[in-house]
Parts: sequence; structure tokens; C-alpha cells
Amino acid sequence: MENKELKNESLEKVVGGFTTSTYTDPDGNTTITQFGVLDVCSGCGACLGVCPTGAITIGPNGAEIDGDICALCWCCADICPLGAISEKQTFIPAPTTD
Ligand code: SF4
Ligand code: SF4
Repeated sequence: MENKELKNESLEKVVGGFTTSTYTDPDGNTTITQFGVLDVCSGCGACLGVCPTGAITIGPNGAEIDGDICALCWCCADICPLGAISEKQTFIPAPTTD
């Protein structure tokens, strides 16, 4: 999966649903990925037609993503004209042992 930087300041501005995945590598380093809709979403609905799993609905505040069925394929993010769908990754290094 392509790794993109958030186009807005943070996912605290997310207005739609978002999904979080956590990956820990063999060295114990953990990466938390949050994927969601930012508040620049206009609710245009362009993302609806490209979602292969039907994870997107348009609510009163714009697009919402159902994290339980989102496949993280990035189709919606690629087609959004406003860059309103993005991700944030947080890296947590492995705990040190003394
Ligand atoms: S394409 Fe972008 S602006 Fe349009 S509804 Fe989807 S997330 Fe919002
Ligand atoms: S990442 Fe893919 S599966 Fe998830 S909401 Fe967007 S288009 Fe749908």
C-alpha cells in the first residue's frame, strides 16, 4: 500500500468514520495506521462509486467509512477531488530492555 502523508493537520479533524490497524514487526516495533475522512469533505459522493466493498456512506457531515468492511484499497482516496481521505501513521519503537 502506498504511504501518503495527511493533507490536513491531523485525524482529529476526521468527520467520517475511520479505521485503525496495528502492525508489530519481528523486532517489536509497532505501527498504528489511522485511515479516514477529513473535514474538507464536501459530501460530493464521488468516492461512493469506486468503493469495492460498499464501506462508504454520505452522512450529514460528509463521507463516512465503515472500518469493519473497508479493505484499505485507497480507491476512494485516489479519486477524491479534495484530498479528503487520508491516513496517519504513528510509529512506536520496541520497548528497551535494561
Ligand atoms: S470524494 Fe472526497 S469530497 Fe467527495 S464525498 Fe468522497 S471524501 Fe468527500
Ligand atoms: S479504502 Fe477502499 S474499501 Fe476502504 S472505503 Fe476507500 S474505496 Fe472503500
